[in-house]
Amino acid sequence: MRRILIAGNWKMHLARSGAVGLAKEIARRADEVAHTDLVVCPPTVYLDAVGQALGSAPVALGAQNMYHEPEGAFTGEISGPMLADINCRFVILGHSERRHIMGETDHQVNQKLHAALSAGLAPIVCVGERLEQRERGETAAVIREQTRGSLAGLTATQMASLVVAYEPVWAIGTGKVATPETAEEVHADLRKLICDEYNPSIGQNVRIVYGGSVKPENAGPLLEQENIDGALVGGASLKSSSFIQIAAAASAA
Ligand code: PEP
Repeated sequence: MRRILIAGNWKMHLARSGAVGLAKEIARRADEVAHTDLVVCPPTVYLDAVGQALGSAPVALGAQNMYHEPEGAFTGEISGPMLADINCRFVILGHSERRHIMGETDHQVNQKLHAALSAGLAPIVCVGERLEQRERGETAAVIREQTRGSLAGLTATQMASLVVAYEPVWAIGTGKVATPETAEEVHADLRKLICDEYNPSIGQNVRIVYGGSVKPENAGPLLEQENIDGALVGGASLKSSSFIQIAAAASAA
């Protein structure tokens, strides 16, 4: 049985007081949600403060990005060991905003993935097609290529701690959510790919979460799908009430 995971991607939002306040509120309400792993991913500068605000609550800390080298002359970058050192457990890799605004490639995502695993972090690797690719009927091919490129060279053991996030680019921050059927089709295809490339038991156990305008109103039907194991939530994770409501919908599903 795969455990549901609900991760909040706070992106480049909130000031220190808002981030700490939101973390405290989520920590206070975390017990309202059963059988669900909760993760919050604040901006890098607030990771430490948010980690302290979470205290011993059952909410894990995640980063939004990292660099693939463990240390060195890489001005402005943050390494996997540094994230682990401040008690980060998860790291989002290859988010579409990094792929399409910062030009990150599958190869770079793959380098970061190996570095994250070496540092003991659980990576949340994002893949997703753009609107024009969906309209040209290329979704399955794009997702397969990104997944193969981003996950290259992983061992079966390393696959166990991995989370894959299907995030159609046209649904991120746009209010246009994929229908449960559309998302399920891609998730099932992704699971089959992982089963075929690794082994069926690995594929069946890898968590594949959906991201793209998830809100309390649409979370239930998405999370009821057989191959949707949780959600990566952007906008709706910036309010404790909507984040907790999404997690509650997940535990009900
Ligand atoms: C995201 O940033 O990963 C995301 C899914 O954003 P939103 O929920 O705002 O679409």
